[in-house]
Amino acid sequence: MKPSSLNPTKGILYIVSTPIGNREDITLRALRILKEVNLIAAEDTRHTLPLLRHFGIHTPLTSYFEGNELKKKEFILSKLRQGDQIALVSDAGTPGISDPGFRLIQAAIENHIPIVPIPGPSAAITALCVSGLPTDSFLFKGFLPHKSKKRRDWLEALKERKETLILYESPHRIVESLKDMLDILGDRDIVLTRELTKKYEEILRGKISEIKAQIGEKKLKGEITLVISGKGRKNRLGENEIGDEEMEKRIDH
Ligand code: SAM
Repeated sequence: MKPSSLNPTKGILYIVSTPIGNREDITLRALRILKEVNLIAAEDTRHTLPLLRHFGIHTPLTSYFEGNELKKKEFILSKLRQGDQIALVSDAGTPGISDPGFRLIQAAIENHIPIVPIPGPSAAITALCVSGLPTDSFLFKGFLPHKSKKRRDWLEALKERKETLILYESPHRIVESLKDMLDILGDRDIVLTRELTKKYEEILRGKISEIKAQIGEKKLKGEITLVISGKGRKNRLGENEIGDEEMEKRIDH
């Protein structure tokens, strides 16, 4: 392995995004880095292994997940201090966004280890950009709380926010969560995205009540990201955005 061009004496921690479903979404740079590093730290090696094998990558793997992160953090840091180059990957998407990774990144920074981003997909941004809801200002809040009381308090704290909200939710709790959202946020525009980039990709747009009625009590499967309009943001253009007519005037034909 060539020494790092950033710092020849220290390792590098690469933060490598991987697909959220469709394997074709991996970047050329991610593939090269995953091939070149000494070690890949993966949230779940069983999940990452098939992806690596699919692309003919045989770099050694180690697990880095919530249960073992304290022990593993020291191991990974010691390797980085010895000059190893390590790629951090999560099960899907961008490491550190609602998955383990944040503490390792923080520890690497404290240890003056260079961090290099290898950007790619993230479910939150993928859902937002197809939602049709205002993108000029948004609030990503990760997973909704599991228990109804906590979830309702959490939604109460968000109900005055004007930004478009992006949330992760499990298919097991979606019906109850939509009910709590309807009660607390009111009947806002919502976009339920499911299985983005995968075979059964689905994007449902409507009012919270409509989406709740549409999915009814049927058991949804797969991975869900919700995008919800902020308070008072009824149309699809942000308040600071300009309409088609004004846009036309400003174009230099
Ligand atoms: N770090 C990841 C990212 O950047 O996308 C997110 C990790 S979080 C543990 C996983 C959650 O992301 C899932 O439970 C689901 O809510 C959402 N998610 C992941 N893949 C998705 C997909 N293909 N379609 C819709 N939502 C997805």
